[in-house]
Amino acid sequence: MELITKRILVTGGAGFLGSHLCERLITLGHDVLCVDNYFTGRKENVEFLLQNPRFEAVRHDITLPFHAEIDEIYNLACPASPVHYQFDPVKTTKTSILGAINMLGLAKRVKAKIFQASTSEVYGDPEIHPQTETYRGNVNPIGPRACYDEGKRCAETLFFDYHRQHGVKIKVARIFNTYGPRMHPQDGRVVSNFIVQSLQNQDITIFGDGSQTRAFCYVDDLISGFIKLMGTDDTITGPMNLGNPHEIPVRELAEQIIRLTGSKSKIVHCPLPQDDPLQRCPDITMASEKLSWKPQISLETGLTRTITYFDKLLSQRNDILKE
Ligand code: NAD
Ligand code: UDP
Repeated sequence: MELITKRILVTGGAGFLGSHLCERLITLGHDVLCVDNYFTGRKENVEFLLQNPRFEAVRHDITLPFHAEIDEIYNLACPASPVHYQFDPVKTTKTSILGAINMLGLAKRVKAKIFQASTSEVYGDPEIHPQTETYRGNVNPIGPRACYDEGKRCAETLFFDYHRQHGVKIKVARIFNTYGPRMHPQDGRVVSNFIVQSLQNQDITIFGDGSQTRAFCYVDDLISGFIKLMGTDDTITGPMNLGNPHEIPVRELAEQIIRLTGSKSKIVHCPLPQDDPLQRCPDITMASEKLSWKPQISLETGLTRTITYFDKLLSQRNDILKE
């Protein structure tokens, strides 16, 4: 097959998912422009790409307009962990909405195809299980998660209005919980928290009784889904669920991580945060039919790789502290 090198802009490219996406796009032979304000992203995530002439990184906040001649945009910029997106909720809403307007405006001007990293949080605390794309959600519009949930919902609205009104080519993915190497160790999300706690033999903090469920997708599987969705013909816009439908209670995740790390950690229970969804699991029928995509990596394999990453990161930090 003939390779067509595209110029691709990745917003949030120095974050967890963004850095894996930049890496994959470079491997596929494209030119990648990573745009990030480093709020939750880290230069270390993309440092290894800097020697590659196909890769460029720019510090920029997407709440402000950005100009570049590009063929495709992946719009990932937005803090994703509840701890981070609730740190400055007004800024989170601005990033989602002004960021979407700026990126859609750019896509319209240069006729680029644009991908939006939306989220399972648009379903809120769902009454339909597993969640299909037709479900309209149960979001508390004034709660502590609303800056993220409603910001992402409004961004979806903007994507579909730019598509209908201006003919912009859009791809909207609703991403479910994803984990893997390069998550921020103080990210606050459950997988990174439990692994970092286990590796340090600290208490494992389960919020609530741990019966709430999530379904965890390994990052490499998700990135394959992104590339496949972006490669579909213009009739496919999404929104499309991307995630791993293997659903487990949070308590079981803690037990599995304790076992895989051989940790001496004990489980402690903390209050369940307000509006924390009690269950979440994607229905991925649409992705499997339209993209022939389904996750390949088991939770055990994915967790083992992620544990190896955090183990190395924590040892490096300990070595620096000893120096
Ligand atoms: P992350 O926090 O690691 O990455 C987000 C990146 O966006 C960071 O590099 C951050 O510095 C950057 N950023 C934030 N605000 C910005 C701004 N105003 N301008 C420029 N850059 C900005 O999070 P992630 O897990 O990599 O998530 C990436 C995207 O995927 C987010 O849009 C998130 O909502 C979405 N998503 C992620 C998950 C998941 O499980 N990881 C689930 C659903 C949706
Ligand atoms: N959680 C937990 N302990 C932690 C962090 C999270 O029990 O240290 C729970 C959290 O309350 C939620 C689930 O794990 O029910 C997933 O949380 P996360 O922040 O990873 O993502 P969410 O799906 O809530 O956005």
